[in-house]
Order: sequence, then C-alpha cells, then structure tokens
Amino acid sequence: MPAATFRFYEELNDFLPEERRKRQFSHLFRGNPSIKDVIEAIGVPHTEIDIILIDGRSVGFGEPLRGGERVSVYPVFERLDVSPLVRLRARPLRRTRFVVDVHLERLGRYLRLVGVDTLSPPDSDDAAIVELSLAERRIVLTRDRGLLKRARLQRGYWIRSSKPREQLVEVIRYFQLEGGLTPFSRCLICNSLLGPVNGSAVEKVVPLSVRASQTGFFACPGCGRVYWQGSHYRRMRQLLKKLGLASEPVC
Ligand SMILES: [Zn+2]
Repeated sequence: MPAATFRFYEELNDFLPEERRKRQFSHLFRGNPSIKDVIEAIGVPHTEIDIILIDGRSVGFGEPLRGGERVSVYPVFERLDVSPLVRLRARPLRRTRFVVDVHLERLGRYLRLVGVDTLSPPDSDDAAIVELSLAERRIVLTRDRGLLKRARLQRGYWIRSSKPREQLVEVIRYFQLEGGLTPFSRCLICNSLLGPVNGSAVEKVVPLSVRASQTGFFACPGCGRVYWQGSHYRRMRQLLKKLGLASEPVC
C-alpha cells in the first residue's frame, strides 16, 4: 500500500490523536486518492485548511497522491499575510459573518449581543446550513466535524469549547474580532441592526412603568422587538466585562 508523510500545523493538530500531533507521521492509503480525501480520512475537515504543500509545492484539494510525498498542511490564516502562496480560496472574506448550527444557539445569541453578524436558523439541517453559508459567504460554526466535512462547504470553524461563554471568547479571539465589537447593536433574536425610536412610538409594546423610567429605546426592523437599558442590559454589560469584552455600547 502506498504511503505519504504528513505534518499538520497549529490548531489542525486538535483533530489528530496525541501520537500524530506536531510531528511528521506516515499514513497509508489505497489507489490514487485526492489529497483532500486523505486529509479528511486522517480526521481534519477541509474547511479548516488553507494551504497544502506537497514536496514544497502549493497544491489544490484535487491533487492526487501516489505515494512517497511529503505533505505539509496549514490552517486557515484569517489574519496573516500569506499572499506568496496559493490560497485554496480565491478571495478573502470582506466581513466576518457566521451561521451557527442548531446546537450552538446560545453562542449565536452571545455573538449577536456583541454585534457580530450571526444567524442561527431554527430547525435547519446540515444541508440548509451549508447552502446558507455559500449563499451569504458565512463561516459555519459547529461542534460537529461531520458538518465541516461536507464537500460543498468552503468556510467553517470547529468550536473547541463546550461552554457557550467560553465559545464566545474563543470565536472572538480566533477571528480577531476584538476591535470591531459593537455590543447591543443587533437584535438578539433575528440578527437585524437596531435603530433608535422614541418612547411614544413604542407605547403598545413597552409597559408604562418602563417608559416612565427609560429614555432610550431601540427597535428591531426585522421582528419588531423593542430593547432598552433595563436590568437585563446591566447583567449583559457585567458579563461582557467579566469576559474582557466590554467596550462602549452603541445603545
Ligand atoms: Zn429582531
């Protein structure tokens, strides 16, 4: 059976068993598979990969393996300049946008809380999430490696933590979003950008006692919800502070 030597870099090692991490190892395969199929058989989803070098030459996912090659595999560098190498995707993302799978609903809510454009479509199966990702150039966030191995998917990130608050910090750090956060600027439910409205415009939906004590109201043009700086707002501010994510709120 033919074999090739592999070395995976940085966080791609998270997908490998201990004995294969951060070192060269030999992997056997049958026939002439594409490099993508062999890498996924090893356990690393193609969406996590940006650059593959075979014997020092930068190649695409379709490159066949014959045996005897030395393969180096690098993760998606969303933030480093690697322009001299052939990247596997033609254009970088202009804006970082996400879609989370159904199991990460709380992460989706937290991301919207800090103003990051994030959809969490209810009741969507894997195929629908992949299509949404392609149509709107959104990065899929998931804990399901099977979803990231779907052939059509181009952008995805496997969430390491199982706790929603840690997941929020993980995403912000990984995609280096710290500088661009706009807390309380989006609807927590439907992701639309909120706009200011005055108290009289929200008479029907906001109780009188709230209208008497609050001056700033923000309405969602998507679902009609109205937000104000109540106790929930203060708790969320405290949470962001605790996570080291506090910046000046938009509302
Ligand atoms: Zn809304």
